[in-house]
Amino acid sequence: MKSIAVIGAGTMGNGIAHVFAQHGHEVNLIDISQTSLDKGLATITKNLDRMLAKESISEELKKSTLDNITSFTELKKGVADVDLVVEAATENLDIKLNIFKELDSICDEKTILATNTSSISITQIAAATERPEKVIGMHFMNPVPIMKLVEIIRGYNTTDGVTESIMQLSKKLGKTPTEVNDYPGFVANRILMPMINEAIEALYNGVAGVHEIDTVMKLGMAHPMGPLQLADFIGLDVCLSILNVMYDGFKNPKYAPCPLLVNMVTAGKLGVKSGEGFYDYSESRKAEKIAGQFA
Ligand code: NAD
Repeated sequence: MKSIAVIGAGTMGNGIAHVFAQHGHEVNLIDISQTSLDKGLATITKNLDRMLAKESISEELKKSTLDNITSFTELKKGVADVDLVVEAATENLDIKLNIFKELDSICDEKTILATNTSSISITQIAAATERPEKVIGMHFMNPVPIMKLVEIIRGYNTTDGVTESIMQLSKKLGKTPTEVNDYPGFVANRILMPMINEAIEALYNGVAGVHEIDTVMKLGMAHPMGPLQLADFIGLDVCLSILNVMYDGFKNPKYAPCPLLVNMVTAGKLGVKSGEGFYDYSESRKAEKIAGQFA
């Protein structure tokens, strides 16, 4: 699989494009928003510069990675003749169903259609196409260039051959693919999101503050970051969507999103991407930190 199209240049899409391009694939990065494409390409360049500074890549590899990426705002142009599409657009069922319906009508019949969805049913997405056997979940973790896991989710109709080729491809990217079946939240988020939701619930109930909850989980459980900060990095809107998919899918109140999470998303506090979530990521706060006013 030489040529890959990645749909969505946000948090995940730019990381997925980066990793494929760094491993020699020609990548068409597609987003409906030119601003997202510009931001995505700037993030890839910044991450490559960081890797260069740490001497984990060479100047030539940085250049070839960037040369391997072409950006598009038009889906039809971006997916022409590719071997694989990895969809990483906004976590919204209607958006994904529309994208897959259109992909099915414009992509070559050999093309495998993968989605990076965190929770939406692969079987349901596949049903929007006439090729459900070639639709699969390829769930990368954030930040994609660093995290080793790719959760490979088989839809009800996904064939062994398609699963095997995506497993092999993921290994060639230096990742560890792990095969799971298609139930709400798959494995990663079925276990992670209840923990994040419970941390928000503890904050909402006044059990402890943001810093204290994260400190307990970092120092007590050896987690690299606390659940509230992790939620900010994932995006509070993404966390809410995933919890709602599990709540609807299992009809089980244990997955009901905490009212505080719902309120924060409604108020536009989405975490790192909006500049504020459980923590403050605004430019002024960063400037204060750099000036040493806050430890
Ligand atoms: P994001 O909000 O950062 O980016 C989404 C991008 O999709 C935006 O740039 C938007 O302009 C673009 N987009 C929306 N509709 C589109 C369309 N019709 N065609 C092309 N582009 C379109 O979201 P994200 O966090 O990168 O999440 C993307 C996917 O990855 C979601 O399915 C999410 O569940 C999944 N995911 C997210 C994380 C995470 O930590 N954020 C981790 C694993 C998987």
